[in-house]
Amino acid sequence: MTNYDLVLEGARIFTGGELVEANLGISEEKIAAISKDTLSGSRTLRIPGKTVLPGIVDMHAHIRDPGYTYKEDFETAGRAAAAGGVTMFVDMPNVEPPTASLETFEQKKKIAGAKSMVDFNHFVFPTLSEVQKVADAGAAGFKIFMVRGAYPHDPRIAVEDHGTLYRMFAAVQKTGLPCLVHPSNMSLFEEFYKEHREAEPNDKEYISFGKAYIEELIYGTSVSVLVMLAKKTGVRLHLVHTHSTMAIEILRKAKKEGYDITAQADPKYFITTEEELHRLGALVLPGGLLAKERVETVWKALNTGVIDVLATDHAPHTKEEVNRIMDEDPWKAPFGCPQLEHYLSVFLTEVNNGRMSLDQLVKVASTNPAKILGVFPRKGAIQVGADADLVVVDMKGQKVLTSEKVYSKVGWTPYEGRKVTGVPVATVRRGEVIMENGEVIGKPGSGVFVPPLNRKPAVRSQEPQ
Ligand SMILES: [Zn+2]
Repeated sequence: MTNYDLVLEGARIFTGGELVEANLGISEEKIAAISKDTLSGSRTLRIPGKTVLPGIVDMHAHIRDPGYTYKEDFETAGRAAAAGGVTMFVDMPNVEPPTASLETFEQKKKIAGAKSMVDFNHFVFPTLSEVQKVADAGAAGFKIFMVRGAYPHDPRIAVEDHGTLYRMFAAVQKTGLPCLVHPSNMSLFEEFYKEHREAEPNDKEYISFGKAYIEELIYGTSVSVLVMLAKKTGVRLHLVHTHSTMAIEILRKAKKEGYDITAQADPKYFITTEEELHRLGALVLPGGLLAKERVETVWKALNTGVIDVLATDHAPHTKEEVNRIMDEDPWKAPFGCPQLEHYLSVFLTEVNNGRMSLDQLVKVASTNPAKILGVFPRKGAIQVGADADLVVVDMKGQKVLTSEKVYSKVGWTPYEGRKVTGVPVATVRRGEVIMENGEVIGKPGSGVFVPPLNRKPAVRSQEPQ
Protein backbone atom coordinates (compact mmCIF):
# COMPACT_ATOMS: atom_id res chain seq x y z
CA MET A 1 0.00 0.00 0.00
CA THR A 2 1.31 3.40 -0.93
CA ASN A 3 2.46 5.49 1.97
CA TYR A 4 1.83 9.19 1.31
CA ASP A 5 3.77 12.04 2.87
CA LEU A 6 0.56 13.58 4.14
CA VAL A 7 -3.05 12.43 4.22
CA LEU A 8 -6.11 14.60 4.81
CA GLU A 9 -8.84 12.35 6.11
CA GLY A 10 -12.58 12.63 6.52
CA ALA A 11 -13.22 16.04 4.98
CA ARG A 12 -15.27 17.25 2.04
CA ILE A 13 -12.96 18.01 -0.85
CA PHE A 14 -13.77 20.62 -3.48
CA THR A 15 -12.75 18.91 -6.70
CA GLY A 16 -14.10 18.99 -10.24
CA GLY A 17 -16.55 21.75 -9.33
CA GLU A 18 -18.22 19.91 -6.45
CA LEU A 19 -17.77 18.81 -2.86
CA VAL A 20 -16.86 15.15 -2.50
CA GLU A 21 -16.42 13.13 0.70
CA ALA A 22 -12.94 11.72 0.14
CA ASN A 23 -9.43 11.38 1.50
CA LEU A 24 -6.49 13.20 -0.02
CA GLY A 25 -3.05 11.68 -0.42
CA ILE A 26 -0.09 14.01 -0.94
CA SER A 27 3.40 13.00 -2.03
CA GLU A 28 6.38 15.08 -3.10
CA GLU A 29 4.44 18.36 -2.90
CA LYS A 30 1.70 17.14 -5.26
CA ILE A 31 -1.79 15.76 -4.90
CA ALA A 32 -1.28 12.05 -5.53
CA ALA A 33 -4.67 10.54 -4.68
CA ILE A 34 -8.29 11.58 -4.12
CA SER A 35 -10.02 8.47 -2.84
CA LYS A 36 -12.88 7.08 -0.79
CA ASP A 37 -10.45 4.43 0.48
CA THR A 38 -8.47 4.80 3.65
CA LEU A 39 -5.02 6.13 2.78
CA SER A 40 -1.92 5.68 4.86
CA GLY A 41 0.43 8.57 5.39
CA SER A 42 3.56 9.53 7.31
CA ARG A 43 1.29 12.15 8.78
CA THR A 44 -2.51 12.16 8.78
CA LEU A 45 -4.70 15.16 9.52
CA ARG A 46 -8.12 13.92 10.62
CA ILE A 47 -10.52 16.70 9.74
CA PRO A 48 -14.09 15.40 9.74
CA GLY A 49 -16.68 18.10 9.08
CA LYS A 50 -14.15 20.41 7.46
CA THR A 51 -14.06 21.52 3.82
CA VAL A 52 -10.90 21.49 1.70
CA LEU A 53 -10.57 24.12 -1.03
CA PRO A 54 -7.74 24.89 -3.44
CA GLY A 55 -5.36 27.42 -1.88
CA ILE A 56 -6.20 31.03 -2.69
CA VAL A 57 -4.19 32.54 -5.56
CA ASP A 58 -4.02 36.27 -4.92
CA MET A 59 -2.97 38.22 -7.98
CA HIS A 60 -2.97 41.65 -6.32
CA ALA A 61 -0.86 42.07 -3.18
CA HIS A 62 1.30 45.03 -2.20
CA ILE A 63 4.12 43.50 -0.21
CA ARG A 64 6.10 46.80 0.20
CA ASP A 65 9.45 45.02 -0.09
CA PRO A 66 11.96 46.49 -0.92
CA GLY A 67 11.72 50.08 0.20
CA TYR A 68 8.74 50.27 2.51
CA THR A 69 9.50 47.34 4.79
CA TYR A 70 8.35 49.25 7.86
CA LYS A 71 4.85 48.51 6.52
CA GLU A 72 5.28 44.91 5.34
CA ASP A 73 7.89 42.56 3.93
CA PHE A 74 7.84 39.16 2.27
CA GLU A 75 8.23 37.40 5.63
CA THR A 76 5.30 39.11 7.38
CA ALA A 77 3.12 39.09 4.26
CA GLY A 78 3.86 35.39 3.83
CA ARG A 79 2.64 34.74 7.37
CA ALA A 80 -0.48 36.84 6.82
CA ALA A 81 -1.14 34.90 3.60
CA ALA A 82 -0.69 31.53 5.30
CA ALA A 83 -3.10 32.63 8.06
CA GLY A 84 -5.69 33.53 5.44
CA GLY A 85 -5.43 30.44 3.22
CA VAL A 86 -3.48 32.20 0.45
CA THR A 87 -0.87 29.82 -0.97
CA MET A 88 0.44 32.02 -3.79
CA PHE A 89 0.50 35.77 -4.31
CA VAL A 90 1.71 38.12 -7.01
CA ASP A 91 2.87 41.52 -5.82
CA MET A 92 2.97 44.96 -7.36
CA PRO A 93 5.75 47.23 -8.69
CA ASN A 94 5.15 50.31 -6.48
CA VAL A 95 8.09 49.70 -4.18
CA GLU A 96 11.48 51.44 -3.88
CA PRO A 97 13.11 51.19 -6.34
CA PRO A 98 9.99 50.59 -8.50
CA THR A 99 10.00 47.16 -10.16
CA ALA A 100 10.41 48.42 -13.71
CA SER A 101 13.39 46.52 -15.13
CA LEU A 102 14.94 43.08 -15.31
CA GLU A 103 17.41 44.09 -12.62
CA THR A 104 14.78 45.24 -10.10
CA PHE A 105 12.64 42.19 -10.92
CA GLU A 106 15.56 39.84 -10.23
CA GLN A 107 16.36 41.69 -6.99
CA LYS A 108 12.81 41.31 -5.78
CA LYS A 109 12.67 37.67 -6.78
CA LYS A 110 15.71 37.07 -4.57
CA ILE A 111 14.22 38.93 -1.60
CA ALA A 112 10.92 37.07 -1.88
CA GLY A 113 12.71 33.73 -2.26
CA ALA A 114 14.60 34.32 0.97
CA LYS A 115 11.58 35.46 2.99
CA SER A 116 8.20 34.28 1.68
CA MET A 117 6.55 31.11 2.94
CA VAL A 118 3.94 31.14 0.18
CA ASP A 119 4.68 30.79 -3.53
CA PHE A 120 5.02 34.00 -5.46
CA ASN A 121 5.63 35.97 -8.62
CA HIS A 122 5.75 39.69 -9.44
CA PHE A 123 4.09 42.20 -11.73
CA VAL A 124 6.50 44.65 -13.36
CA PHE A 125 5.98 48.11 -14.83
CA PRO A 126 6.44 47.75 -18.63
CA THR A 127 9.47 49.92 -19.35
CA LEU A 128 9.67 49.39 -23.13
CA SER A 129 13.31 48.28 -23.31
CA GLU A 130 12.76 45.74 -20.51
CA VAL A 131 9.44 44.11 -21.40
CA GLN A 132 10.77 41.14 -23.34
CA LYS A 133 13.66 40.50 -20.93
CA VAL A 134 11.33 40.54 -17.94
CA ALA A 135 8.92 38.17 -19.70
CA ASP A 136 11.75 35.78 -20.58
CA ALA A 137 12.83 35.80 -16.93
CA GLY A 138 9.42 34.38 -15.93
CA ALA A 139 7.46 37.39 -14.69
CA ALA A 140 3.72 36.96 -14.13
CA GLY A 141 2.89 40.03 -16.21
CA PHE A 142 2.86 43.81 -16.14
CA LYS A 143 1.11 46.56 -14.20
CA ILE A 144 0.37 50.17 -15.09
CA PHE A 145 -1.23 52.75 -12.81
CA MET A 146 -3.26 55.49 -14.47
CA VAL A 147 -3.78 57.04 -11.07
CA ARG A 148 -0.94 59.35 -10.15
CA GLY A 149 -0.09 61.35 -7.08
CA ALA A 150 1.69 60.82 -3.79
CA TYR A 151 2.92 57.37 -2.75
CA PRO A 152 1.53 54.67 -3.20
CA HIS A 153 0.54 56.07 -6.60
CA ASP A 154 4.10 56.66 -7.68
CA PRO A 155 4.23 59.03 -10.68
CA ARG A 156 7.27 57.12 -12.03
CA ILE A 157 5.06 54.13 -12.86
CA ALA A 158 1.90 56.04 -13.78
CA VAL A 159 0.81 56.46 -17.40
CA GLU A 160 -2.26 58.30 -18.61
CA ASP A 161 -1.02 59.37 -22.01
CA HIS A 162 -2.78 57.25 -24.65
CA GLY A 163 0.19 57.08 -26.99
CA THR A 164 2.42 55.65 -24.29
CA LEU A 165 -0.29 53.23 -23.19
CA TYR A 166 -0.63 52.09 -26.80
CA ARG A 167 3.11 51.47 -27.16
CA MET A 168 3.26 49.61 -23.87
CA PHE A 169 0.26 47.43 -24.75
CA ALA A 170 1.81 46.59 -28.12
CA ALA A 171 5.08 45.58 -26.41
CA VAL A 172 3.34 43.49 -23.74
CA GLN A 173 1.12 41.81 -26.35
CA LYS A 174 4.20 40.22 -27.91
CA THR A 175 5.00 38.47 -24.61
CA GLY A 176 1.55 36.85 -24.26
CA LEU A 177 1.46 37.98 -20.62
CA PRO A 178 -1.39 39.89 -18.99
CA CYS A 179 -1.19 43.67 -18.59
CA LEU A 180 -2.93 44.89 -15.45
CA VAL A 181 -4.14 48.46 -15.37
CA HIS A 182 -5.52 50.55 -12.53
CA PRO A 183 -7.92 52.75 -14.55
CA SER A 184 -8.24 56.41 -13.69
CA ASN A 185 -8.71 59.84 -15.15
CA MET A 186 -6.78 62.36 -13.09
CA SER A 187 -8.28 65.55 -14.49
CA LEU A 188 -11.84 64.30 -13.92
CA PHE A 189 -10.81 63.13 -10.45
CA GLU A 190 -9.64 66.65 -9.59
CA GLU A 191 -12.81 68.22 -11.05
CA PHE A 192 -15.11 65.88 -9.15
CA TYR A 193 -13.24 66.59 -5.94
CA LYS A 194 -13.92 70.32 -6.38
CA GLU A 195 -17.57 69.59 -7.15
CA HIS A 196 -18.01 67.46 -4.03
CA ARG A 197 -16.35 70.14 -1.87
CA GLU A 198 -18.72 72.76 -3.24
CA ALA A 199 -21.81 70.60 -3.03
CA GLU A 200 -21.16 69.35 0.52
CA PRO A 201 -18.79 71.83 2.23
CA ASN A 202 -19.57 70.26 5.60
CA ASP A 203 -18.25 66.88 4.52
CA LYS A 204 -14.80 66.04 5.84
CA GLU A 205 -12.22 66.43 3.08
CA TYR A 206 -11.40 62.73 3.04
CA ILE A 207 -15.07 61.93 2.41
CA SER A 208 -15.13 64.31 -0.59
CA PHE A 209 -11.90 62.69 -1.74
CA GLY A 210 -13.43 59.21 -1.41
CA LYS A 211 -16.59 60.25 -3.25
CA ALA A 212 -14.55 61.73 -6.09
CA TYR A 213 -12.30 58.66 -6.23
CA ILE A 214 -15.22 56.34 -7.03
CA GLU A 215 -17.01 58.56 -9.58
CA GLU A 216 -18.43 56.48 -12.44
CA LEU A 217 -17.09 58.69 -15.20
CA ILE A 218 -13.48 58.32 -14.03
CA TYR A 219 -13.73 54.58 -14.70
CA GLY A 220 -16.10 54.78 -17.66
CA THR A 221 -13.78 57.08 -19.62
CA SER A 222 -10.53 55.32 -18.74
CA VAL A 223 -11.85 51.79 -19.22
CA SER A 224 -13.35 52.63 -22.61
CA VAL A 225 -9.95 53.90 -23.80
CA LEU A 226 -8.13 50.90 -22.32
CA VAL A 227 -10.53 48.45 -23.96
CA MET A 228 -10.16 50.20 -27.34
CA LEU A 229 -6.37 50.07 -27.06
CA ALA A 230 -6.54 46.42 -26.03
CA LYS A 231 -8.75 45.58 -29.02
CA LYS A 232 -6.32 47.36 -31.32
CA THR A 233 -3.16 45.79 -29.91
CA GLY A 234 -4.51 42.39 -28.83
CA VAL A 235 -2.94 42.73 -25.39
CA ARG A 236 -4.43 40.60 -22.61
CA LEU A 237 -5.81 43.51 -20.61
CA HIS A 238 -6.71 42.83 -16.98
CA LEU A 239 -8.59 45.63 -15.21
CA VAL A 240 -8.15 46.03 -11.47
CA HIS A 241 -10.54 47.76 -9.02
CA THR A 242 -13.66 47.00 -11.06
CA HIS A 243 -16.61 48.57 -9.26
CA SER A 244 -18.19 50.93 -11.77
CA THR A 245 -21.38 50.17 -13.66
CA MET A 246 -19.96 51.84 -16.77
CA ALA A 247 -16.75 49.80 -16.64
CA ILE A 248 -18.70 46.57 -16.11
CA GLU A 249 -20.93 47.30 -19.11
CA ILE A 250 -17.93 47.98 -21.36
CA LEU A 251 -16.26 44.83 -20.09
CA ARG A 252 -19.34 42.66 -20.62
CA LYS A 253 -19.60 43.87 -24.20
CA ALA A 254 -15.92 43.32 -24.98
CA LYS A 255 -16.11 39.80 -23.56
CA LYS A 256 -19.21 39.00 -25.61
CA GLU A 257 -17.28 40.08 -28.67
CA GLY A 258 -14.66 37.50 -27.73
CA TYR A 259 -11.81 39.73 -26.56
CA ASP A 260 -9.40 38.34 -24.01
CA ILE A 261 -10.09 41.06 -21.48
CA THR A 262 -10.50 40.16 -17.82
CA ALA A 263 -11.12 42.05 -14.61
CA GLN A 264 -10.89 41.85 -10.88
CA ALA A 265 -12.94 43.18 -8.00
CA ASP A 266 -11.29 44.71 -4.95
CA PRO A 267 -13.08 43.89 -1.68
CA LYS A 268 -12.61 47.26 -0.02
CA TYR A 269 -14.92 49.02 -2.49
CA PHE A 270 -18.00 46.87 -2.08
CA ILE A 271 -17.76 44.76 1.07
CA THR A 272 -17.38 47.54 3.63
CA THR A 273 -20.52 49.03 5.10
CA GLU A 274 -21.43 52.63 5.83
CA GLU A 275 -21.47 51.76 9.51
CA GLU A 276 -17.86 50.57 9.25
CA LEU A 277 -16.87 53.78 7.46
CA HIS A 278 -18.33 55.84 10.30
CA ARG A 279 -16.75 53.64 12.96
CA LEU A 280 -13.33 53.06 11.36
CA GLY A 281 -12.93 56.15 9.15
CA ALA A 282 -10.18 56.21 6.55
CA LEU A 283 -9.07 52.66 7.48
CA VAL A 284 -11.84 51.33 5.22
CA LEU A 285 -11.82 54.08 2.57
CA PRO A 286 -13.33 54.19 -0.05
CA GLY A 287 -15.51 51.42 1.40
CA GLY A 288 -18.96 52.35 2.55
CA LEU A 289 -19.30 55.09 -0.10
CA LEU A 290 -20.49 53.02 -3.06
CA ALA A 291 -24.24 53.34 -3.70
CA LYS A 292 -26.27 50.21 -2.95
CA GLU A 293 -27.18 49.59 -6.61
CA ARG A 294 -23.52 49.70 -7.58
CA VAL A 295 -22.63 47.21 -4.85
CA GLU A 296 -25.32 44.92 -6.30
CA THR A 297 -23.88 45.40 -9.81
CA VAL A 298 -20.43 44.30 -8.61
CA TRP A 299 -21.88 41.20 -6.90
CA LYS A 300 -23.83 40.31 -10.02
CA ALA A 301 -20.77 40.74 -12.24
CA LEU A 302 -18.74 38.54 -9.88
CA ASN A 303 -21.44 35.88 -9.81
CA THR A 304 -21.98 35.77 -13.57
CA GLY A 305 -18.41 35.73 -14.85
CA VAL A 306 -18.19 39.34 -16.05
CA ILE A 307 -15.66 40.03 -13.28
CA ASP A 308 -13.26 37.07 -13.30
CA VAL A 309 -11.22 37.55 -10.16
CA LEU A 310 -11.63 38.53 -6.55
CA ALA A 311 -8.17 39.69 -5.43
CA THR A 312 -7.20 41.10 -2.05
CA ASP A 313 -5.47 44.35 -3.02
CA HIS A 314 -3.63 43.75 0.26
CA ALA A 315 -2.26 47.28 0.74
CA PRO A 316 -0.85 47.74 4.23
CA HIS A 317 -0.01 51.17 5.62
CA THR A 318 0.50 52.02 9.26
CA LYS A 319 -2.62 53.17 11.08
CA GLU A 320 -0.97 56.55 11.65
CA GLU A 321 -0.34 56.98 7.91
CA VAL A 322 -3.93 56.17 6.96
CA ASN A 323 -5.39 58.30 9.71
CA ARG A 324 -3.40 61.25 8.37
CA ILE A 325 -5.92 61.28 5.52
CA MET A 326 -8.49 62.49 8.02
CA ASP A 327 -6.30 65.12 9.67
CA GLU A 328 -4.19 66.39 6.81
CA ASP A 329 -4.47 66.67 3.04
CA PRO A 330 -6.15 63.49 1.71
CA TRP A 331 -4.25 63.91 -1.57
CA LYS A 332 -0.94 63.45 0.24
CA ALA A 333 -1.72 60.53 2.54
CA PRO A 334 -2.04 56.90 1.46
CA PHE A 335 -5.13 54.75 1.72
CA GLY A 336 -5.46 51.01 1.42
CA CYS A 337 -5.74 48.22 3.93
CA PRO A 338 -4.32 44.80 4.81
CA GLN A 339 -6.56 42.01 3.49
CA LEU A 340 -4.59 38.76 3.16
CA GLU A 341 -5.59 37.37 6.54
CA HIS A 342 -9.28 38.05 6.73
CA TYR A 343 -10.71 38.30 3.25
CA LEU A 344 -11.39 34.57 2.88
CA SER A 345 -13.37 34.55 6.13
CA VAL A 346 -15.30 37.60 5.01
CA PHE A 347 -16.26 35.96 1.69
CA LEU A 348 -16.98 32.53 3.22
CA THR A 349 -19.47 34.45 5.36
CA GLU A 350 -21.04 35.78 2.16
CA VAL A 351 -21.23 32.19 0.86
CA ASN A 352 -23.03 31.21 4.07
CA ASN A 353 -25.34 34.20 3.60
CA GLY A 354 -26.22 33.02 0.09
CA ARG A 355 -24.62 35.94 -1.76
CA MET A 356 -22.27 33.71 -3.70
CA SER A 357 -21.89 29.96 -4.22
CA LEU A 358 -18.83 28.19 -2.89
CA ASP A 359 -18.14 27.08 -6.45
CA GLN A 360 -18.05 30.70 -7.64
CA LEU A 361 -15.83 31.80 -4.74
CA VAL A 362 -13.30 29.08 -5.62
CA LYS A 363 -13.42 30.20 -9.26
CA VAL A 364 -12.83 33.90 -8.62
CA ALA A 365 -10.34 33.54 -5.77
CA SER A 366 -8.29 30.58 -6.97
CA THR A 367 -9.04 28.96 -10.34
CA ASN A 368 -9.48 32.06 -12.53
CA PRO A 369 -6.43 33.90 -11.17
CA ALA A 370 -4.38 30.72 -11.73
CA LYS A 371 -5.63 30.60 -15.34
CA ILE A 372 -4.89 34.26 -16.01
CA LEU A 373 -1.42 33.83 -14.52
CA GLY A 374 -0.83 30.77 -16.68
CA VAL A 375 -0.17 28.53 -13.67
CA PHE A 376 -3.33 26.41 -13.96
CA PRO A 377 -3.68 23.47 -13.28
CA ARG A 378 -0.49 23.43 -11.22
CA LYS A 379 -2.33 25.95 -9.01
CA GLY A 380 -6.01 26.72 -8.62
CA ALA A 381 -7.46 23.19 -8.56
CA ILE A 382 -7.57 20.09 -6.42
CA GLN A 383 -6.74 17.30 -8.84
CA VAL A 384 -4.15 14.57 -9.08
CA GLY A 385 -0.85 16.04 -10.26
CA ALA A 386 -1.54 19.59 -9.07
CA ASP A 387 0.54 21.24 -6.36
CA ALA A 388 -0.90 20.31 -2.97
CA ASP A 389 -1.93 23.90 -2.20
CA LEU A 390 -4.96 23.67 0.04
CA VAL A 391 -6.95 25.62 2.54
CA VAL A 392 -9.00 23.70 5.09
CA VAL A 393 -12.00 25.70 6.19
CA ASP A 394 -14.56 25.32 8.90
CA MET A 395 -17.68 26.56 7.11
CA LYS A 396 -19.61 26.83 10.37
CA GLY A 397 -16.77 28.21 12.50
CA GLN A 398 -17.56 31.63 13.92
CA LYS A 399 -15.37 34.39 15.18
CA VAL A 400 -15.15 38.12 15.59
CA LEU A 401 -12.27 39.56 13.56
CA THR A 402 -9.95 41.84 15.49
CA SER A 403 -6.59 43.51 15.08
CA GLU A 404 -5.26 41.78 18.18
CA LYS A 405 -3.60 38.81 16.54
CA VAL A 406 -2.79 39.98 13.06
CA TYR A 407 0.33 38.74 11.27
CA SER A 408 0.61 41.68 8.89
CA LYS A 409 3.36 44.03 10.09
CA VAL A 410 0.99 46.99 10.35
CA GLY A 411 -1.03 45.12 12.95
CA TRP A 412 -4.57 46.09 12.04
CA THR A 413 -7.54 44.86 10.03
CA PRO A 414 -10.24 46.85 8.23
CA TYR A 415 -12.70 44.21 9.48
CA GLU A 416 -12.32 45.05 13.17
CA GLY A 417 -15.44 43.90 15.02
CA ARG A 418 -16.93 41.96 12.10
CA LYS A 419 -18.56 38.64 12.97
CA VAL A 420 -17.72 35.95 10.42
CA THR A 421 -19.03 32.45 9.77
CA GLY A 422 -16.48 30.40 7.86
CA VAL A 423 -12.83 30.39 8.90
CA PRO A 424 -9.63 28.89 7.50
CA VAL A 425 -8.24 26.40 10.01
CA ALA A 426 -5.27 24.98 8.11
CA THR A 427 -3.19 25.92 5.08
CA VAL A 428 -1.11 23.45 3.11
CA ARG A 429 1.42 24.80 0.61
CA ARG A 430 2.95 22.22 -1.72
CA GLY A 431 2.23 19.49 0.80
CA GLU A 432 3.58 21.31 3.84
CA VAL A 433 1.25 22.42 6.61
CA ILE A 434 2.11 26.10 7.06
CA MET A 435 -0.89 27.08 9.22
CA GLU A 436 -2.76 24.92 11.69
CA ASN A 437 -5.56 25.98 14.05
CA GLY A 438 -4.93 29.61 13.21
CA GLU A 439 -1.22 29.38 14.12
CA VAL A 440 1.26 30.01 11.32
CA ILE A 441 3.99 27.37 11.53
CA GLY A 442 5.59 27.59 8.08
CA LYS A 443 9.19 28.61 7.57
CA PRO A 444 10.04 31.95 5.97
CA GLY A 445 11.77 31.34 2.65
CA SER A 446 9.97 28.04 1.95
CA GLY A 447 7.88 29.61 -0.83
CA VAL A 448 9.09 29.34 -4.42
CA PHE A 449 8.92 31.50 -7.52
CA VAL A 450 6.22 30.23 -9.90
CA PRO A 451 6.64 31.31 -13.54
CA PRO A 452 3.77 30.97 -16.03
CA LEU A 453 3.55 27.43 -17.44
CA ASN A 454 2.31 28.88 -20.68
CA ARG A 455 1.88 32.43 -21.84
CA LYS A 456 -1.42 32.10 -23.63
CA PRO A 457 -3.77 30.37 -21.24
CA ALA A 458 -7.46 30.00 -21.92
CA VAL A 459 -8.83 32.70 -19.67
CA ARG A 460 -12.44 32.49 -20.79
CA SER A 461 -13.57 30.34 -17.91
CA GLN A 462 -17.20 31.36 -17.99
CA GLU A 463 -19.49 32.74 -20.67
CA PRO A 464 -20.66 36.11 -19.31
CA GLN A 465 -24.42 36.30 -18.87
ZN1 LIG B 1 -3.40 47.81 -5.55
